[in-house]
Amino acid sequence: MARRFERSAAHFEEAKQYIPGGVNSPVRAFKNVDMTPVFIERGEGSRVFDEDGNEYIDYICSWGPLILGHAHPAVVEAVREAAVKGTSFGTPTRIETKMARLVTEAVPSVEVVRMVNSGTEATMSALRLARAYTKRNKILKFEGCYHGHSDSLLIKAGSGVATLGLPDSPGVPENTGRHTLTVPYNDLDSTRVAFQKFGHDIAAVIVEPVAGNMGVVPPEPGFLEGLRRLTRHYGSLLIFDEVMTGFRVDYHGAQGRYGVKPDLTTMGKVIGGGMPVGAYGGSREIMDLVAPTGPVYQAGTLSGNPIAMAAGYATLTELKKPGTYEQLEERAARLEEGLSQNAEEAGIPYHINRVGSMVCLFFTGEKVIRYEQAKTADTAMFARYFRRMMEQGISIPPSQFEGMFVSTAHTEEDIERTIEANRNALKQL
Ligand code: PMP
Repeated sequence: MARRFERSAAHFEEAKQYIPGGVNSPVRAFKNVDMTPVFIERGEGSRVFDEDGNEYIDYICSWGPLILGHAHPAVVEAVREAAVKGTSFGTPTRIETKMARLVTEAVPSVEVVRMVNSGTEATMSALRLARAYTKRNKILKFEGCYHGHSDSLLIKAGSGVATLGLPDSPGVPENTGRHTLTVPYNDLDSTRVAFQKFGHDIAAVIVEPVAGNMGVVPPEPGFLEGLRRLTRHYGSLLIFDEVMTGFRVDYHGAQGRYGVKPDLTTMGKVIGGGMPVGAYGGSREIMDLVAPTGPVYQAGTLSGNPIAMAAGYATLTELKKPGTYEQLEERAARLEEGLSQNAEEAGIPYHINRVGSMVCLFFTGEKVIRYEQAKTADTAMFARYFRRMMEQGISIPPSQFEGMFVSTAHTEEDIERTIEANRNALKQL
């Protein structure tokens, strides 16, 4: 039976009267897939249920945070317990220390960590710190990498920006852009040239150690190591933006997975367990520059919020259990295999990238190692594919430039059903 989306459509019309574009984050509008966004009423495990009563196996997973799936009992209980004690105090609470300890124990390069409220805040704050520490102005980022929407990072960004096709955003001062250098991802030669030219004024290189905002693009062998060497040579800091990869590709983050230690790490998504949390951290020496120990100002009324910390703490505690990442790897590998086989059989040009539980099917025959190749993907075909998947009860990110997120709640059966739906969808393209 064909799915109906009437209630979602009505809710969207109403939302548009009061919210810009009807949404609180652009990609939720389903604009590029030419569909009315579905309004979700509730989630449970691997499933979400929309306002029309349709059920989906969900691979958006809140765009990464829900690595345990929706409404995981341990997380819900932690939130409930915290909430009844009060929602916010603006004074220190013990859960903040417990959380910081768990994070510093897990992430190899992080000795001290400061909690904030989003990934955007985390990267913005890390850059300020890097500039203060090095007393330099410029930062170097990679085309197609997204680091949130702060001014100096909204240059050649991926994700929603790539989806909407905005090269830069109006409202970012030219002078700000002047201090942001961009080179292609996975391109050490261009990075080297940028350093030869501007190295004396580059405060930091910021990189997604696995790119997740131009679709999923793994680092080429030697890329992260090369960045480590170059930054060290020129006295710049290396920032791993692990907002997406932290506790996602490994309990120890991408830095654990690839064995490269950055100077600063930004986090978000998974560490908040679905609550608004970001974080940045590094060595004590660098982090001591942050107020109140040092002069670099950064603050937040709700930072380290007890409910958010409780959700994060419960999430990381679950993730720490033996076998978690092996299971994620296994399920995601099976998904990758199934999608590959289907695309092969359907004779569709495709390329699949996967790192751990991040999986991306590109509608292009080119091997995607940079944004340049990601952009060759057939986004119109992706839009058709997306709608076919939704109709079959599979919710994937409404963008060719984001990966699917597999959670611990996805069962073998979920994966098989997804592969089956994908086979049907590809046949109809
Ligand atoms: N960095 C990366 C790597 C991200 O993927 C994102 C969000 N997709 C951000 C930063 C920004 O995080 P937030 O949306 O929480 O501000």
